[in-house]
Amino acid sequence: MPETTRTKTNLHALDIRSPHDCGVVIFGASGDLTKRKLLPAFYNLFVDGILPKHFIIIGFARSEMTNEVFQELARQAINEFSRRPIDQGKWNEFASRLYYHRGHYDEPDSFHSLQKLQSERHNNFRSGKNWLYYLATPPSAYGDIGACLKQTGLAEDHDAGEHWSRLVVEKPIGRDLDSATKLNRSLAASFDESQTYRIDHYLGKETVQNILVMRFANGIFEPLWNHNHIDHVQITVSETGGLDRRGGYYEDIGALRDMVQNHLLQLLCLTAMEPPHNLGADAIRDEKRQILEALRPISSEQTNQYAVRGQYGEGLVKGSAVIGYRAAEKVAEESQTETFVALKCYIDNWRWSGVPFYLRTGKRLPKQCAEISIFFRGVPPILFNANPSKPVAPNVLSIRIQPNEGIALEIGSKVPGPHVAVRPVSLDFGYSSVYPAGTPEAYERLLLDVMLGDATLFMRRDEVEAAWSFITPILDGWSKQPINDFPNYMAGSWGPATADELLFRDGRRWRRL
Ligand code: NDP
Repeated sequence: MPETTRTKTNLHALDIRSPHDCGVVIFGASGDLTKRKLLPAFYNLFVDGILPKHFIIIGFARSEMTNEVFQELARQAINEFSRRPIDQGKWNEFASRLYYHRGHYDEPDSFHSLQKLQSERHNNFRSGKNWLYYLATPPSAYGDIGACLKQTGLAEDHDAGEHWSRLVVEKPIGRDLDSATKLNRSLAASFDESQTYRIDHYLGKETVQNILVMRFANGIFEPLWNHNHIDHVQITVSETGGLDRRGGYYEDIGALRDMVQNHLLQLLCLTAMEPPHNLGADAIRDEKRQILEALRPISSEQTNQYAVRGQYGEGLVKGSAVIGYRAAEKVAEESQTETFVALKCYIDNWRWSGVPFYLRTGKRLPKQCAEISIFFRGVPPILFNANPSKPVAPNVLSIRIQPNEGIALEIGSKVPGPHVAVRPVSLDFGYSSVYPAGTPEAYERLLLDVMLGDATLFMRRDEVEAAWSFITPILDGWSKQPINDFPNYMAGSWGPATADELLFRDGRRWRRL
């Protein structure tokens, strides 16, 4: 059971919980994710007094590095990416808990020496026999690492479950249903599902967790949350950025795998799921899986009817000229990789019968944002809505996940004056004005949850595979159709014209963000 916090924290969202003493081994510790997310997140948890008293991090990778070099790498990473600046006193203490172990991911000897280091440090720091193993390497190394951990006896919980061993896995989990199933099977050969934490960092965002609070802690929304009152739902996750040094990775993946299979479908699940019977990890994940299973399949033959793909050419983003996708480093001249996707989905269950969910995501779009918009049905065509050429705008509830996190409800209001004119106005709640202390980074929350053994915000194996079951036929459909029109949208625009047509055909349009 988690302990209660010994130290007062200003991180309101992470209050009253602090894990038992433990250590962390980060595989791939020389890489980008470690620098950008993991080390800054651990540092912030440390500064907030949330990490246990006895805590160490061992970075494991093939690169040659001493402890001191690893500590310096961490200092630079925290300087650059942490939400808090370095405090010299805290930093010295944090740095003294950082170690580096050079090894190979597929050599048992490297794991025996890791084990030796763990027990030496355990004696020094009493970080317990609880270990969190973070796979921050490309997925091709996951199987080997899992097998070596198992072989060395590091993968097992000890002392009748009193001491734990947990595995954190990053996306992508596979590139289609088949490979995801194989990867999950290979992880399961070393770690039990109850020890496995699949990260989708979107689920660590406060605003995403707030979707369930908004739906199930407020009496006014739930009665309206169904096909009787909701016309359609739009989910947009747009990025202004391009490849950001990750050309080799992205070229082989594309937007459907990189964003839709995980982040957008998770947002859809939270928006659409039934109330869970409790707030436990499995109750919530059971409901999410039911939504994924209720998604109406888009067969390869129907792909063009329900899915749009795009790739950006050169253009202007926020006033600066940018190159097209195909001109980026490590991208093929005739690349067929999609940097934009729009989908129209249906959830074939009672609640959502006939309600389309439109999803879109892309790179080099005009705005960096993530938002869920619930469009309610319009009022009858009488009274204020009697003139068909000037329909009254529907009520829209928008959940802003980032930036400017908050929730807004658009309602019709009378424009002051002698004439009767109705104009939409917004009732707006902004997180930062109500909670000025700010919210923790998603990785902080998620790493803490792993240490506490709370799997609620992590994807279970069956969820991941259900998501791939929906996505894989679309990938198959696309693979059968050569693309002749890429690039088909200018950087800085809202994607290809076909994405607009997807909604025009239904008499709708994308919300202006
Ligand atoms: P990197 O490409 O930076 O790789 C991390 C480390 O893994 C490298 O420093 C290298 O360390 C080792 N490595 C690289 N290639 C291989 C290989 N072919 N086989 C074995 N080891 C290799 O990855 P990231 O840090 O960017 O990402 C790590 C994981 O997290 C990936 O699965 C990625 O998809 C995922 N991810 C990353 C995000 C990010 O922002 N970077 C965001 C979301 C997910 P060494 O050679 O020293 O052993």
